[in-house]
Amino acid sequence: MLKYENVVKSYGNVRALKGVSLELGPGKVHALLGPNGSGKSTLIKMAVGLVKPDSGKVRVFDIDPAEDPISARRIVGYMPEEPLIYESLTPAEWLSFLGYVHKIPADVLKERLNTLVKVFKMEDQMGKLGGELSLGNKRKLMLISALINDPKVIILDEPFSGLDPEIARVLKEMMKRKAEEGKIIIFSTHILEIAEAVADEMTIMHYGEVVAKGNISELKGKRDLESYFMEVTGLSSELQELLKAL
Ligand code: ADP
Ligand code: MG
Repeated sequence: MLKYENVVKSYGNVRALKGVSLELGPGKVHALLGPNGSGKSTLIKMAVGLVKPDSGKVRVFDIDPAEDPISARRIVGYMPEEPLIYESLTPAEWLSFLGYVHKIPADVLKERLNTLVKVFKMEDQMGKLGGELSLGNKRKLMLISALINDPKVIILDEPFSGLDPEIARVLKEMMKRKAEEGKIIIFSTHILEIAEAVADEMTIMHYGEVVAKGNISELKGKRDLESYFMEVTGLSSELQELLKAL
């Protein structure tokens, strides 16, 4: 279980999260939606202890990531929005280092990497230097890094940005399968079509608050997701005003 209880976070005078409560369980793919700046990445980073709440509680199973980020990172696979790459290590070197850090037995690591590298079409990239990879390939390396430990909780921050359609397809399938296997799986996006195509449940954030959460088809009812999204975020009336000025 990944649980947030009344979580508050400010950066200086920017109130990024204004008391967010959320509970996410296994078996479903969860989409975290919201306009840019609504607090998605801040919420995600708290699950691995990269951002600490000013007040409120975050728990990954029984772990408090702010207190014990190392234990949290053992069970949470996290893909950051911006790729963090060692420019002077090859993907092969970086991934074997990660295998060592996670204490994955050599034969298990080899098998897992074989599969991941193949499905994400990274075979011909493994010997290049990190700094030489294209942005798309850097993002794929981040994805493989998040999955290498076969984590119970998978959190991907804007995983579809910069992926070509074929790999996006693989990722969608993979997310569904991981949910079926009983993993907790969450991804953020500001692209509604992607959320609708992949996720069962969604949480919509707006200015640091949760404005809707639950099953996607139940929430939107007969409306399309875009209309629903515009309505709950209040963007609908803002947009009407702006369009008038065109
Ligand atoms: P999202 O991922 O939904 O785009 P973020 O969580 O990145 O939203 O940001 C929420 C708000 O907090 C934004 O106003 C953003 O500018 C601000 N913010 C995020 N990270 C920092 C930071 N390290 N320092 C200052 N402000 C930040
Ligand atoms: Mg973000």
